Amino acid sequence: MDRRSFIKKAGLAGAGTAAATALAAPAIAQSMPKVSWRCTSSFPKALDTIFGAAETMANFVRDSTDGNFDIQVFAAGELVGGLQAADAAAAGTVEMCHTASYYYWGKDPTYSFGTCIPFGLNARQNNGWFYYGGGNELMNEFYATQGLYGMPCGNTGAQMGGWFRKEINTVDDLKGLKMRVGGFAGKIMEKLGLVPQQIAGGDIYPSLEKGTIDAAEWVGPYDDEKLGFYKVAPYYYYPGWWEGGSALHAMVNLGKWNELPKSYQAVLASACEAANCDMMASYDHKNPAAIKRLVAGGAQLKPFSQEILSACYDAAISTYEEINASNPMFKKIYDNQQAFKKDAYLWAQLSEYTYDTFMMIQQRNGKL
Ligand code: CA
Repeated sequence: MDRRSFIKKAGLAGAGTAAATALAAPAIAQSMPKVSWRCTSSFPKALDTIFGAAETMANFVRDSTDGNFDIQVFAAGELVGGLQAADAAAAGTVEMCHTASYYYWGKDPTYSFGTCIPFGLNARQNNGWFYYGGGNELMNEFYATQGLYGMPCGNTGAQMGGWFRKEINTVDDLKGLKMRVGGFAGKIMEKLGLVPQQIAGGDIYPSLEKGTIDAAEWVGPYDDEKLGFYKVAPYYYYPGWWEGGSALHAMVNLGKWNELPKSYQAVLASACEAANCDMMASYDHKNPAAIKRLVAGGAQLKPFSQEILSACYDAAISTYEEINASNPMFKKIYDNQQAFKKDAYLWAQLSEYTYDTFMMIQQRNGKL
């Protein structure tokens, strides 16, 4: 279109504004229908960062639609238990949930990629893979078989390795250890003799306090501090090699997703992206202060030894090989993500790694 014809059309559009306004109201009303959904979270309200990501998403949707698309968020246990959130969404008990995909790895380990797999991608890389590396498309090919449509909706960043009642110095120290560990990581740890326990967030502290379990991982300093683990298990290990950048997901009943007007689908997708970014930013703001308070309160920071990390890495790789041999969907996603990961860590060595390493040395030397 040349400039003159553009101006002419713009002029015509301007002249017709009054008439168009009178006629437009019914069309707008149709395109903004009242939709009321329930979203069940896998998390307690006390975890304001993770539970809050669902509220951030819901508020964005409500505000963007003049309140016409209203998503009410329920904490774990209000409608269904934390670990039943995706089942409730798939069954249509609720329209959607906010959860960690890997909670459902027992149904199919392919769910794990929606959060992260052990020794998988960090938070930034996970977003690169989800949004541009084919991750979201692949995950939704899988989620469709489960009656769900999923969108990343939050990330914790690299997590801590958890709280232990006693020091863990060698691989042998893991044998017989009862540990609350989220998701698929437990299957890998079993190879090293650990006895994994899958327990929803609100139930971890009582189990650790009673001694039903010997260790528990949850998220990182800010959330762990709230749940008070340092009072009953003082050794705080890192890194959480099974959660290098854990994503949360909004999972929508597939039928309900398909019924949504396209504009509401777009708003909800944007809301999830906004919540995804917001949650990581919130953690990056809150964790530094929390780790200082935890150490002041008696937490003893301990890195996992290279021996333990290497043994866990080898156990992870052999686990993936076993699953790849029998689960074509898992293998399809694994192969795609591995190719992404190889290049992502090639680039990261040049970019953040060298920059961050230099800056960390300045930090340690008190020069920041
Ligand atoms: Ca965790």
